[in-house]
Amino acid sequence: MAAKHFKYIILGGGVAAGYAAREFAKLGINPGELAIISKEAVAPYERPALSKGYLFPQGAARLPGFHVCVGSGGERLLPQWYSEKGIELILGTEIVKAQLASKTLTSAAATKFTYDNLIIATGSTVRQEIDDADEIVAAIKEKKNGKAVIVGGGYIGLELGAALKLNDLDVTMVYPEPWCLPRLFTDGIAAFYEGYYAIKGIKIIKGTVAVGFDSNADGNVTAVKLKDGRVLDADIVVVGVGGRPLTTLFKDQLDTEKGGIKTDGFFRTSIPGVYAVGDVATFPLKLYNELRRVEHVDHSRKSAEQAVKAIKAIEGGQAIEEYDYLPFFYSRAFNLSWQFYGDNMGDAVLFGDADPASTKPKFGTYWIKDGKVVGAFLEGGSPEENNAIAKLARLQPHVADLEELRKEGLSFTSKF
Ligand SMILES: Cc1cc2nc3c(=O)[nH]c(=O)nc-3n(C[C@H](O)[C@H](O)[C@H](O)COP(=O)(O)OP(=O)(O)OC[C@H]3O[C@@H](n4cnc5c(N)ncnc54)[C@H](O)[C@@H]3O)c2cc1C
Repeated sequence: MAAKHFKYIILGGGVAAGYAAREFAKLGINPGELAIISKEAVAPYERPALSKGYLFPQGAARLPGFHVCVGSGGERLLPQWYSEKGIELILGTEIVKAQLASKTLTSAAATKFTYDNLIIATGSTVRQEIDDADEIVAAIKEKKNGKAVIVGGGYIGLELGAALKLNDLDVTMVYPEPWCLPRLFTDGIAAFYEGYYAIKGIKIIKGTVAVGFDSNADGNVTAVKLKDGRVLDADIVVVGVGGRPLTTLFKDQLDTEKGGIKTDGFFRTSIPGVYAVGDVATFPLKLYNELRRVEHVDHSRKSAEQAVKAIKAIEGGQAIEEYDYLPFFYSRAFNLSWQFYGDNMGDAVLFGDADPASTKPKFGTYWIKDGKVVGAFLEGGSPEENNAIAKLARLQPHVADLEELRKEGLSFTSKF
């Protein structure tokens, strides 16, 4: 069978793919030029919903409600939108072979696709898809009031723990680190969330890992075995650990760095016409003069838009600015909501009311490196306050007295 040819192919149908498609439509494409090839059976959607609204006991988010680009306040791109624009959504199609030298992709069903430009947006292994979330929803219904064990103390583990608790399950979280989300949280920040979860009735077991599971004759899990010898009864086990970028298709074909596909500030890889965006890309973070890989939704959206702008600029013989990203992560669970901007390096200064028993806790942390504020975290901030900490992380103002900064707390941002 002859290969299907497209001027542009986006490989992967997640967040980055959806935002890239919108940018292509904005900048102008002809019908039939662009295809999205995705293993998933549905058009691109806002993946973060899967560990939040999708699991709510009431008023749960369901497709088509959270197709991209609603997560950033944009238009919701329903499947019809793609057909109206002449963008081909090739869904339920896994690419099993990529031959970048001949610009050819081959699917599991042996269909061949060729392209002029390829955008790799395959995401990472921590990814959950609708099917995984549906399994959790089914288990919640089936194991009403049962025991749930969450393995992993990252933000997805924390969100899943909260969601299962809201569904009246008896939740235990297990993670090996001394506190939750250690990649970002200081012990002071983590103490708040762990305290809050304890008040909500969630048990947390730290410093050990799950090493095995027991199951009954039907193959249903009944217990989680921990390395320290403890055995936890379990009706549901959800594992939310460790992400790895999905780059194996391109092994030995593209330059890699820090586990991801190495790109420049336009998301061009080492092969002309091949771009990598979202979770798989290791890109120059201009602000810190360093190559980084970022597994967060804001970057997946912005990197996708930047790559499409770059493709279009090259075609038009124009130049665009290099990607200049300010790292931004967020999470929501229970009535809590935090945002983080910048870098969590150097000394940390905790400010505000971080008492988990407070009726309206509100606190934050600044990170200070070489006398400059390089990162800021805020729990419970208003949109204006979150904008203010973002501005601070971008401006990196000097501070001399950390104790003074702690006392000033959030009001420090009003100086800028
Ligand atoms: C449950 C969950 C909650 C999250 N919550 C937050 C949050 O609160 N805040 C935040 O900042 N970030 C969050 N994230 C991270 C964020 O969703 C990701 O950073 C973002 O989705 C990355 O976008 P992407 O397009 O690179 O990859 P993805 O959105 O993961 O999409 C990858 C796509 O590629 C497809 N694919 C992969 N391999 C192939 C192949 N061989 N053939 C065909 N298709 C393929 C997949 O099926 C998928 O459609 C969350 C992630 C998860 C899983």
